[in-house]
Amino acid sequence: MTKIPAFDEAYCLDTFKKLLAVDSTTGQYEELQTLLCSMLDGLGYSYHVTRKGGVIADLGGEGEALCVTAHFDDIGLMVRRINPDGTLNVCNVGGLHPYYCVAENVRVHTRGGEVFTGCVCRTPASVHVTEDELKEEPDFRKNICVVLDRDVKTAEDVAALGIATGDVIALEPRLELSGGYIKSRFVDDKAAVAVLLTLMKALKDSGTVPARKVYFYFAAYEEIGHGTAWLPEGVRDMLAVDIAPTGPDQTSDEHKVTVFAKDSRFPYHWGMTNELRETALEAGVDFVMDIFTPHYGTDCDVSLVAGHDIRHAAIGFGTANSHGYERTHVDGLKNTYDLLAAYLLK
Ligand SMILES: [Zn+2]
Repeated sequence: MTKIPAFDEAYCLDTFKKLLAVDSTTGQYEELQTLLCSMLDGLGYSYHVTRKGGVIADLGGEGEALCVTAHFDDIGLMVRRINPDGTLNVCNVGGLHPYYCVAENVRVHTRGGEVFTGCVCRTPASVHVTEDELKEEPDFRKNICVVLDRDVKTAEDVAALGIATGDVIALEPRLELSGGYIKSRFVDDKAAVAVLLTLMKALKDSGTVPARKVYFYFAAYEEIGHGTAWLPEGVRDMLAVDIAPTGPDQTSDEHKVTVFAKDSRFPYHWGMTNELRETALEAGVDFVMDIFTPHYGTDCDVSLVAGHDIRHAAIGFGTANSHGYERTHVDGLKNTYDLLAAYLLK
């Protein structure tokens, strides 16, 4: 096996920060796509931009291709309508539970290119004067709204700002690093994008070429279910790098990389999954096998269902509080990096 270049933790975390600094709620991909392209230019890789927003980098190598995917779109909100009192009625984009967005600061991106700040609130919203109402379950259609940081009292005031139905609302990621733990929204899946970019840099710096043809596919529509429906010519294997949610019945661990055996759609490819497991054992990577039900699918499932004759598998770092204020650990990122690198160089 070719020697695996060491994991550059500082570069990975810095890259993660840069990715988090650009809002990229599913559907609103342009600014982050531009950032990704400039990062790939800086690293010296060629890439293809898909019509709907994905970026596919070419890592070189020969033969039938392995395509590794991570997604740069985030769950978020969209303006459903402007309420008569000047607050915004919103709906979710992707699997954002109402419980997990209340009290978060947001940025409203209008279609005219303006950005307004605000906060997701319960309506009514004070434990001192509306305690009984706060006992209701949070519900986007009943008791959640976005309050803008502007002196707006009517729907007309808000419309005059240029805010309208269909505008996109991004949540503040709130990144905190402490004791090796990484707390932030959108660990899913910008931390995986950062891991992939870190490996690309390490391969370039060390002059290492993968043992086979490899693409890294940065997808823009995973959170709503069609990120990698289209694939480049010659792809034989698809590998998703995505979060491995932790929970009471899960083996996944924030310090480890998980090899996915099954998600809520179907089992992953027997042979390819076994190759990843064997690679982890050979490389001494700290890993677990896990299954994810009832609500999890990766972009590799999407490629398969789209009709591609491929093998598919998935790996990822253990992540707590998925689709909320997520947490993982740098150990988990490092183990994911080590397994991915070992598999690429095998
Ligand atoms: Zn994800």
